[in-house]
Amino acid sequence: MRILMIAPPGAGKGTQGALIAAHFNIPHIATGDLLRDHVARGTPLGQAVQGYLDRGELVPDQIVLDMVREAIIAAKAAGGGYVLDGIPRNMEQARAAYEIARELGMTADVALHLEADDAELTRRLLARAALEHRSDDTPEVIAQRLALYYQVTAPILAWYRDRGILVSVDAMRSAAEVGREILVALEAMRPFLDDAHGQERLPLDLTSLGEAFGATGSAAGTPE
Ligand code: ADP
Repeated sequence: MRILMIAPPGAGKGTQGALIAAHFNIPHIATGDLLRDHVARGTPLGQAVQGYLDRGELVPDQIVLDMVREAIIAAKAAGGGYVLDGIPRNMEQARAAYEIARELGMTADVALHLEADDAELTRRLLARAALEHRSDDTPEVIAQRLALYYQVTAPILAWYRDRGILVSVDAMRSAAEVGREILVALEAMRPFLDDAHGQERLPLDLTSLGEAFGATGSAAGTPE
C-alpha cells in the first residue's frame, strides 16, 4: 500500500499517518518530523531550514525531495509500501515526487485528503501549542501555514482526482472515528491494488497538474 497524505495543518496527518503505517506495517515518512529532527540535532541542514519552519514557510523543494528520495529507496528495500505525510506541498514537488517514485517503481496508489474547516484546524493547533511548544503553532504562523496550504497545496488535489486515486475523508470528527473510516476505505481498495501492482503502469501525462494551477501551454507539461 502506497499512500500520499494531503491535508491542511492540524487536520491530523501525523496521527492518521502513524495509524496507517502501523496497520499496514509500512514506513511513515513525515517530512515535517524529518526536518524538525534535523533542527533539534543542530545539523547543517537543520540550521539551514529552521527559519523557514519558524515562519511557516516551505523549505526549498530540493531539500525535501532529497530526503524523500532517500526515504522511498529505504521503503522499497523494506517491502515496497509507504505513507508519505507532508509532501507534495506544491506543484513542483508533486511533479518531482512523481518522477522519483516512477523511477523507483514506487508510485502512489492513493492520495488521501483530510478535510476540516479553518476554525477547527486553528483550534487544534492552538491546543497542541499548549502541550508541545512547536515554534510554528502561534496564531500568526498558523494563519500563514493555512494560507499557504490553500494557495499552493490544495490545487494539487485536482490532479489526483483526475488520476482517480483521490480519497477524501471528513476529518472534523474524533481521531478514532476518522482513523476507522480511513482504514475501512483503504482495506476496501487493497484487493484492487494487489492486481494493479502486477501490471505495467502507463506513464502519466502531467499536463493537467499544470492546468490545476492555471498554467497553460507546453511549459506546464512534462519535459518528456
Ligand atoms: P503542518 O502540516 O502542521 O504544517 P508539518 O510537520 O507537515 O506540519 O510541516 C511543518 C513545516 O515543515 C512546514 O511549515 C514547512 O516549513 C516544513 N515542510 C514540511 N514538509 C515540507 C515540504 N514538502 N516542502 C517544504 N517544506 C516542508
